[in-house]
Amino acid sequence: MKQKVTSEVRKAKPPFPKQHQVAPGIEKKMKPRPAFQAPLYKAAGKLSGKKALITGGDSGIGRAVAYLYAKEGADVAISYLPVEQVDAEETKAVIEALGRECILIPGDLNSEKFCQRLVEKVVKKWGQLDILVSNAGHQNRKKDILEITSAEFEETFRVNMFSYFYLVRASVAHMKKGSCIIVTSSETSHTAPKELLDYSSTKGAINTFTQSLAQMLIDRGIRVNAVAPGPVWTPLNIADKGHSAERVRKFGQQQPIGRPAQPEEVAPAYVFLASEADSSYISGIVLPVMGAQPF
Ligand code: NAD
Ligand code: MG
Repeated sequence: MKQKVTSEVRKAKPPFPKQHQVAPGIEKKMKPRPAFQAPLYKAAGKLSGKKALITGGDSGIGRAVAYLYAKEGADVAISYLPVEQVDAEETKAVIEALGRECILIPGDLNSEKFCQRLVEKVVKKWGQLDILVSNAGHQNRKKDILEITSAEFEETFRVNMFSYFYLVRASVAHMKKGSCIIVTSSETSHTAPKELLDYSSTKGAINTFTQSLAQMLIDRGIRVNAVAPGPVWTPLNIADKGHSAERVRKFGQQQPIGRPAQPEEVAPAYVFLASEADSSYISGIVLPVMGAQPF
């Protein structure tokens, strides 16, 4: 699990080894493994005593966020699909090694009932919920409108957008003043690539939802923000049905910085937005983390 701390390993550039997986991708099978432990990051107890729920916390960005939150003193609950158990257990192990609690709650965010149960389980376990990170995502590139089935269109919105609404609605009743909600948007909410019609539309909706929700919840003392990453080296694109193994080789090359982000380069933005010490006056923003890509 310990990764060698060199810029080559941690900030890997294309070309990557050719690879593809069936969704959801498994981080453990990726080559090279995404870097999430941010060895240069100095924690300062910014989230001490907090309880966080992170969807998609088994792998990718969610795992790196879970890890840094634990470094900052929070206990974390992570949700994921049952087939991702292997990644979830690895995340739990590294968090427990930091001396923090990590509870695993597998289930399908397509289901409104599961979204409600997820929040209930966290509150039952800890009696509080301070940070909700709605981060799970479903993404499949399609070249033509006729390839987008109604079922796929609906699933993309269900996982990426509807679950955000269900989780927020279930959470706010339990959130005290000083709590916060953070969601993962994407640069595609602005760049709107033609092969990601349904996915990009959910991210655009997320941005607007975030801005509106921030105003709705400010009187409750709950801040709401989004992070919009550029390409990140995670299972999502490896397991995208419309993204060939050959294209994975060049993943992130088009970005001005010439490479994808590693999850550990994105996660500090989530700490910043969760930390009252850093961002108590910030609500309703979409924070770009995009390697010089204009937003
Ligand atoms: P990832 O595959 O590691 O994480 C996505 C997670 O979503 C999975 O681990 C899975 O647990 C969860 N998920 C998917 N469908 C689900 C379902 N039906 N029920 C429950 N959970 C489900 O990849 P990632 O890149 O870390 O993705 C995290 C977020 O980042 C997503 O919202 C994604 O859209 C966003 N994002 C990713 C990139 C990128 O290039 N990787 C860029 C911008 C935004
Ligand atoms: Mg995963």
